[in-house]
Amino acid sequence: MPSLRKLSRRSFIASSAVTVAGSALTPKRLFAQDPVVDSILKDGKVVSREKASWKVRPFPMKQVRLGDGPCTAAMEADRKYLHSLPADRLLHTFRINAGIPSSAQAFGGWEAPDCELRGHYAGGHYLSAVALLYASSGDEDLKKNGDAVVAELAKCQTDLNNGGYLSAFPIEFFDRLRNRDRVWAPFYTVHKILAGMLDMYVHTGNEQALEVAQKMAAWTGSYTGSLSYEHMQRVLGTEYGGMGESLANLYAITGKEYYLAIAQRFDKKQFFDPLAAHRDELKGLHVNTHIPQVIAAARLYELTGDVRYRDIAEYFWDEVVSERSYCTGGTSNHESWNTDPGKLAAELSTNTTEDCCAYNMMKLSRHLFGWKPDARLMDYYERLLFNHRLGTINPEDGTMMYYLPLASGYWKTFGKPFDAFWCCTGTGSEEYAKLADTIYFHDDDSLYVNLYVASHLEWPEKGLSLRQDTNFPEQQGTTLVVSAKSPVQMEINLRIPYWTNGGNVKVNGAELSAFSSPSSYLALNRVWKSGDKIELHLPMRLHTHPMPDDSTVQAMMYGPLVLAGRFDRVSKEMMYGDYEPKPTDQYKVPEIVAEAANPTAWVQSDPKQPLVFHAAGQSDPITLAPLYTILQERYAVYWKVNTKTT
Ligand SMILES: [Zn+2]
Repeated sequence: MPSLRKLSRRSFIASSAVTVAGSALTPKRLFAQDPVVDSILKDGKVVSREKASWKVRPFPMKQVRLGDGPCTAAMEADRKYLHSLPADRLLHTFRINAGIPSSAQAFGGWEAPDCELRGHYAGGHYLSAVALLYASSGDEDLKKNGDAVVAELAKCQTDLNNGGYLSAFPIEFFDRLRNRDRVWAPFYTVHKILAGMLDMYVHTGNEQALEVAQKMAAWTGSYTGSLSYEHMQRVLGTEYGGMGESLANLYAITGKEYYLAIAQRFDKKQFFDPLAAHRDELKGLHVNTHIPQVIAAARLYELTGDVRYRDIAEYFWDEVVSERSYCTGGTSNHESWNTDPGKLAAELSTNTTEDCCAYNMMKLSRHLFGWKPDARLMDYYERLLFNHRLGTINPEDGTMMYYLPLASGYWKTFGKPFDAFWCCTGTGSEEYAKLADTIYFHDDDSLYVNLYVASHLEWPEKGLSLRQDTNFPEQQGTTLVVSAKSPVQMEINLRIPYWTNGGNVKVNGAELSAFSSPSSYLALNRVWKSGDKIELHLPMRLHTHPMPDDSTVQAMMYGPLVLAGRFDRVSKEMMYGDYEPKPTDQYKVPEIVAEAANPTAWVQSDPKQPLVFHAAGQSDPITLAPLYTILQERYAVYWKVNTKTT
């Protein structure tokens, strides 16, 4: 990976007479790292089991609050949806499985009583989402509902009386898994419940959830411990989510090395070995089965110090981002990698870029960024956030998409509120509950402003708070205002994105003579005092994103935003219920004529409306807008472009 580039700041070290240094004000405090950070603060003492610590870390989520903007709108839609889910309905299949009477109305979709994944959302993603939303917004009512679900699931676990087993389906599913008989993905489901319990402990302090998780881990240890290494490797042929990651996190929380050993039983040799040797053998693999395994490798690197795990994670990230991702940052087609590296032009369909893959690639990016704060990682994170995550939750009711179709002429489809509960409903519920968690990172002496999202940060160890005022991406930049109890020296690093076209920064109204190159951090080191204001201007420009294997198939981007052609409106019936739009119902999108010397000239901005564009010189009028703003219309992201030379 390219190294972190910083502006030479020789002319910008403050020469103020204030002599208070940051390190004199705040004792160096070692924070444990994500995702255990909140539990450590709650205990008021430092316990770090990491052998390889993050160089930069996120803030505890309760110290960052979102301001008005598209992220808050997405979070509020998510909150509304989570509030619509009553505990009794969530618990129904768990209770039936444990022999506890339940007359609640069963959910449908992947939570239906006959679905083999039942419980993954109701006792898993739901708890994670509630915990994360509590951490990022302080929603006490949701926490109460989460606590009630944990307490009732603990009863189910007791009544099941099977060594800590907890699920909404019978333990017989695991016999089928062991015997390699047909079964969907029992460990995948158990992982969601385990992760939900850990999130409830870490983010809300629910001790009972940690007890439930430890009992589940004991059962997992017993089940996996009874299998030979070879037998376990065969079991790993069935999707198992992030079992390795959650068990590693359980070790990080408790210090019980047994959990770390169980976590490593989920290392799939056949998948890890080629990655460790820097060979892309991803073709043919189911994408969202495998990204969580790499997240587990990242976590195991941190907890064991074994650099092979780090190598696996970094090579994988580079390969997926550079060879297997579309303009949105999304990856997968029909849930798989179907081609050799860099072959994407024929991989446009109604089933591209499953949402869970975006969720998990963002999660993986955070680990890599923690190890080494490279702006390229946050450029990618921003690409996914603004093009794939915003715009795949329905702002009206909080329902989620499954795929984000990138074949032209289709539309977005959303699950019905109580009859979907897809994997992507689950990861979506979590995603929009934690949109504030990556905006800022820090180390002992510096702050990283990664994302331009209206928000407020509290940093009590520095006696400092920071307000970010921005209407980004409608506004091409941001303003940061410092509040400090007393002046504090530190470095504020601003991400200068890959897409910017020049730019400048002003501190207290004075423009700095230097700037930083795209895809780097601009470091501002001085003594900061209350009222100090940073104004960052990041001009956006149009640029094309051609397919790596066919430059005549192109997407158009403006700054970080994928622009989509906006076509006919679809009905509500067409919007709801299915994983993807009907493949046969495609609107024929016109081909584009562009100039070889100026390939973006066919798109021109609307002088009156921000982020609205019009095609020029084409046979049909076309309006373009950011993909994330399109909800109920057919759209086109990739265009067939015929180039003319003049
Ligand atoms: Zn999914």
